[in-house]
Amino acid sequence: MPHGKRPELLAPAGNFEKLTYAVRYGADAVYCALDRFGMRASAGNFTPEEFAKGVEYAHAHGAKVHCAMNVNPRDAEFELLPEYIKYVSDAGADAFIASDPGVIDCIFRYAADPCVHLSTQVSTVNSASARFWLRQGIKRIVLARELSLEEIKRIRENVPEIELECFVHGAMCVSYSGRCLLSNYFTGRDANGGRCAQPCRWKYHLVEDKNGYTAEAEQDGDGAYVFSSRDLRMIDHVPELVGAGVDSFKIEGRMKSAYYTAAMSNAYRIAIDACMRGEPFDERCIAETESVSHREYGTGYYFSSPGSDANTVKANEYVADRPFLCSVLSYDESAGLAKCLQRNKMRVGEKANVLSPGGFGRDFVIGEMFDRDMNPIESTPHAGMEFYLRIDGLKPMDIIRG
Ligand code: SF4
Repeated sequence: MPHGKRPELLAPAGNFEKLTYAVRYGADAVYCALDRFGMRASAGNFTPEEFAKGVEYAHAHGAKVHCAMNVNPRDAEFELLPEYIKYVSDAGADAFIASDPGVIDCIFRYAADPCVHLSTQVSTVNSASARFWLRQGIKRIVLARELSLEEIKRIRENVPEIELECFVHGAMCVSYSGRCLLSNYFTGRDANGGRCAQPCRWKYHLVEDKNGYTAEAEQDGDGAYVFSSRDLRMIDHVPELVGAGVDSFKIEGRMKSAYYTAAMSNAYRIAIDACMRGEPFDERCIAETESVSHREYGTGYYFSSPGSDANTVKANEYVADRPFLCSVLSYDESAGLAKCLQRNKMRVGEKANVLSPGGFGRDFVIGEMFDRDMNPIESTPHAGMEFYLRIDGLKPMDIIRG
């Protein structure tokens, strides 16, 4: 028996390629941004033409597109805003994600059929705020990441008319929903303009005031990443999130790879579908979350406030146990030949694994490979090159990983 209403699975799409992977691997909706007015300035983002192409692709495959316009622009930047809003609206975007009241007002004035989702940047943490935003015409609130599951439930019960979207996976931030000046201070890069340099991830030292002596600050003897939050992972808590009435499960990471987007969309798709069928959680979903680039995982604020360890990492390295070797561009069934695009080196005789939508991957040994002129090769040429791989039963957009 399903535990509640089927939630939307919302995946990050930093560019057109990532959008196609998110949709192919099970996302119900993607969020992305144009090259202006969206946080994550270095995510690649979409030109207006690419955005229209992305919406067309997503809609053709039954998925929605939410366009992030969640910066806080200065007066001088407002001039361009109506033009961008009209473009996004005409392209057929399903929703705008915004935080600045001026931007929200512009969306209501210039979009043909405005649907506004309130960004997590607004830090909505209570029912009274949710009611206020509902009265302003907001359709959905992306809740602050600092809320517990119980608090989310209460907002759901108190304001049943508004949709609630919650982050379920990805990087967290020690500042309150991104309100932070560390990056501006150290590098001049504005976190609230989408250009955060993540100085919270750096290692810090103590400096003695008078003579400038430095000492390494120690946190469990492994260094001092006292501002660097653990990544969020809620995949084994899908039933609780559904039970709390969360309408949309959001995966963070517009700047992560196409492999991350595909693998996380796939794993959460499987976990949500199993929950809706009333089936038990498949532990292999956990292994999938370990296969992508991530820091130590935690459950954020859902079940408790950070304790004495402040939910920070003990080491700052990203971990990923499966390299993304290549993507499958096309597959010739009669010849058993896959045309692939190389991401990382592959050698004949090495073990690899192929990930397809809805599955957990299958192991195989790399057999015959050929260059573009069908000359046999022992190893793949270099990243970005096309080559052929002899293998059974693939489909376009399958992913070969280590
Ligand atoms: S510096 Fe760190 S805490 Fe501050 S906004 Fe950037 S990621 Fe968040």
